[in-house]
Amino acid sequence: MKVEREQQRRLLEVQGIDTEISRHRHGAAARELDLSMKDLTDQMGGLRRRLVAAETEASDLQREISRSEEDVRRVRARLERDRDLADQGMSAKVQRELQHELASLQRRLADLEDAELELMQRQEDLERLVEELRASEPALAEKMAAVAAQQSAAADETRQRVDELQTQRESLVVAIDPQVMSRYDALRGDLPVAVAPLTGTQCGGCRLQLPPADLAELTSADADDMVSCPECGCLLVRD
Ligand SMILES: [Zn+2]
Repeated sequence: MKVEREQQRRLLEVQGIDTEISRHRHGAAARELDLSMKDLTDQMGGLRRRLVAAETEASDLQREISRSEEDVRRVRARLERDRDLADQGMSAKVQRELQHELASLQRRLADLEDAELELMQRQEDLERLVEELRASEPALAEKMAAVAAQQSAAADETRQRVDELQTQRESLVVAIDPQVMSRYDALRGDLPVAVAPLTGTQCGGCRLQLPPADLAELTSADADDMVSCPECGCLLVRD
């Protein structure tokens, strides 16, 4: 393929711009921001799951406490009734039975009250946990908003830089034979670098040192012959 030296050099510049555009589009900074955002989103998901679990447990516990309070109320009422009966002066046998029942009710009441106290302690712990989880949500949301703002600023910057590069590219492309450009575009679909300089004995595309026989063939070709690297197949522009 015959391509004027000037066009070969322009093609090399187009490749430089395309490499830079792709570097901007898949930049390390943007990737890092994406990773931060993913991490924060995961943290927020975890926080919300823990919050829902703690709130559900707290509401289950509240029902349990209500039941326990009802039990305590019933046993207290029974105790009062038995004490009233005991005060009414009954036969020794009935009194003994009443005393026996009173003692057993007292034990039952003490057990119920202990259990209720334990439930209330658990409820207090849970309420504290729910409060802590709720309190950490705004700070996390703020971090996410900050990263989102950085992402958006980085995207704007990328867009702006890519637009500038595209403009530069267009001004180069108009001066290149469309057939040469379509060859370049086809190669770019297959190769990471479609056109590269031949620097000394090294191909700028695959970075391999070319064997002397191949080099001799490349350098002996006419200046307007568009040659290719025998290793990677990219177009080679000679000095
Ligand atoms: Zn090569």
